[in-house]
Amino acid sequence: MIRKSVLTNRKIKTIITDFVFLTILVFSLGSIPGMAAETDSQDLMAQVFAAAEKDLGNIGPEDTLIITDIGSPAESYVFLDSFYSEFYERDMKYTENLLVVQNARNAPLWFAFFNKSNGNCTFIEVSYGDEDEISYQVTENIDFDKLSKNKKSIAAWNEKVNSTVFDGREFAILTISNGWATGKLDYELMQCLQLHNHFCPGVSSGFVLADWMEENYPLEEGVSYTVFSCPNWCKEDVFVKRWDATPGKGGIFVSALTDEEKEEIGNSPAGIFVVTNKSAGTMKAVVLGFDFDVVSAESGAKKDDPAWISKYLSDLWLMDRENWDEEGLVTEIAVIDIDKDTLSEMKQAGNNPYVVLGLLNPEGNVRSSNGIRGIGNLFSKSKA
Ligand SMILES: [Zn+2]
Repeated sequence: MIRKSVLTNRKIKTIITDFVFLTILVFSLGSIPGMAAETDSQDLMAQVFAAAEKDLGNIGPEDTLIITDIGSPAESYVFLDSFYSEFYERDMKYTENLLVVQNARNAPLWFAFFNKSNGNCTFIEVSYGDEDEISYQVTENIDFDKLSKNKKSIAAWNEKVNSTVFDGREFAILTISNGWATGKLDYELMQCLQLHNHFCPGVSSGFVLADWMEENYPLEEGVSYTVFSCPNWCKEDVFVKRWDATPGKGGIFVSALTDEEKEEIGNSPAGIFVVTNKSAGTMKAVVLGFDFDVVSAESGAKKDDPAWISKYLSDLWLMDRENWDEEGLVTEIAVIDIDKDTLSEMKQAGNNPYVVLGLLNPEGNVRSSNGIRGIGNLFSKSKA
C-alpha cells in the first residue's frame, strides 16, 4: 500500500512538473519579441479583408480602392506588414488600389473598401490592444450619380451623413472614391490627398496653383519657392507635399486675412510665392489670386445643393486640366523684385506680408503707388 502511494505521488509529481514545464513553454513562446503581436495583427488584418469580401464580393485590382489611415492611429503600425501582405496577396497595386491617408494619433483605425463596378463601399473600424476585433462595419452604396440623382436620394444620403454612417468620414470617402472611379484622378494629386485626408476644392485649387507656378517659374536647378499662404485654406497641403515646403524647414508661412483685406488687395488673393533663383541671383515675390466664383459658375452645382454635391462637382471640374486656363481662375496680382531683408520682414510674426510688399497699407487699404517701399519692379497683369 505504501509503495503504491509513493508511486501515485511520483506520478502526480511528474504530471505537475510536466504541466509547469508546458505552461512555462507556452508563456515563453508567447513572449518572444514580435511573435505574439505578429500573429494577432495577421489575424486582425485577415479578418478585416475577409469581412469586406463577405459584403463586397471579390476584392481585386480591377475594381477596388482601399482607403485607410493605417499607421496614423497610435501603435497601428504593428498592423502595417500584415495589411500589406493581405493587400498584395490579392494582386493589387500600391499606386492604383490604395490611398493611405494621414489622421491624428487619437483617430480610430479604419478601412474603406470601395468597389467601382457597383459603387458599394464597406467601412470597417477596428479596436486593438487588449483585444483585436472589428468594432464597426457597414456597407453603403456611395456612387455619386446615384446619390445625387434626385431630391429623395440626396435627402437619404444627407441623413446618413448626419448619422455619421462612416464615423464622420463620409465626405472624404465619397469624394476620394468617386474621384478615383473616374480614372482621371492625377496620382500626384492623390499623394497630396494622403496628407490632406479628403478631396475638396480647396486642395484642388492648391494643385492648380502649384502647377501654375511650376509652369511660369520652373523649378530649375538653383530655384526654390518660399510660400506665404495667406489667406489660408486647404491648398497649403499641396505645397507642403509637392515642394517639400514644410513649416519646420521654413518653406511655408501661413496666416489669415480679413474680408476687408482680401477686398482691398482684390482678385481673390491666394498667396505670395517667393521664387529664389540662386544661379541668377534673383528673388521675386509672385502674388497670385484664385477665384472660386469661376469654379462655382462652371461646375454645374446648384445654389441649394448640399456641400458634398457642390464640392465634389467643383473637384470634378478642377480635375480637368483643360479648365485651368479659364479666364479669371488664376490671376497674377503682382510680381515684385525683393531682397533678403524684405523676405525676412515678411516672415516676422505680426507683419502682414502684403503690407511688407506694399500691396496693402497697415490700415488694410491698398497703398498708392508712391507709398510703396523697398520694391524695385511692381506690375500687375492678368494671367499669362
Ligand atoms: Zn480640404
